[in-house]
Amino acid sequence: MKSASTYRAVQAVSKGKLELTEKPLVDPPAGHVRIRVEACGVCHSDSATVEGILPIAWPRVPGHEAVGRIEVIGNGVEGWKVGQRVGVGFLGGSCGYCDYCRDGDLVNCTNQGYTGVQQDGGYAELAYRPTKLDNDSLRNLEMIFRWDHLSRDPSGLGDPEETRWTLGLNYWLSPSTVLKVAYEWDQPNGEPNRNALLIQTAMGF
Ligand SMILES: [Zn+2]
Ligand SMILES: [Zn+2]
Repeated sequence: MKSASTYRAVQAVSKGKLELTEKPLVDPPAGHVRIRVEACGVCHSDSATVEGILPIAWPRVPGHEAVGRIEVIGNGVEGWKVGQRVGVGFLGGSCGYCDYCRDGDLVNCTNQGYTGVQQDGGYAELAYRPTKLDNDSLRNLEMIFRWDHLSRDPSGLGDPEETRWTLGLNYWLSPSTVLKVAYEWDQPNGEPNRNALLIQTAMGF
């Protein structure tokens, strides 16, 4: 029996076993939207969820090719509206701070969840989906520690003629914008020290 406080979903519960279930109807968490699913493709990758090929905690709703309409918008969501038709794919968001994200290569983010694997997917009447990056400000901080030996000999095999230490912090304002504050201890041989405090920004690489 389907009631107004639940919705139907098909979930994998153990290796090779799918079952029809009722899940509680709740408001989407902050940063998520609730989608009324109209259709969902069945893909061979869904067998990873059903057969446990990828690490998985069952029960899990498979389905990463869903289309539907947004029916509720969670707190803090911008740029989406109720009634809008949307599609859901396999990649469940990007973290904004891993090396790939910082290069603007969000598709290869190493911290993303996969729809239907770590997050419930579209084999259901409803799906709850994240809409933007994780904004944990502490994780956007990165320590800089460098030690360079520079040689005037192009082979690089001669004695180093300059030693440079750099210590500082990067703060990632967005995946492609960084603010850097660092102190450099520079000791060229035979010259007075050329230490420097650096404050730099870099954008859009
Ligand atoms: Zn697929
Ligand atoms: Zn990332």
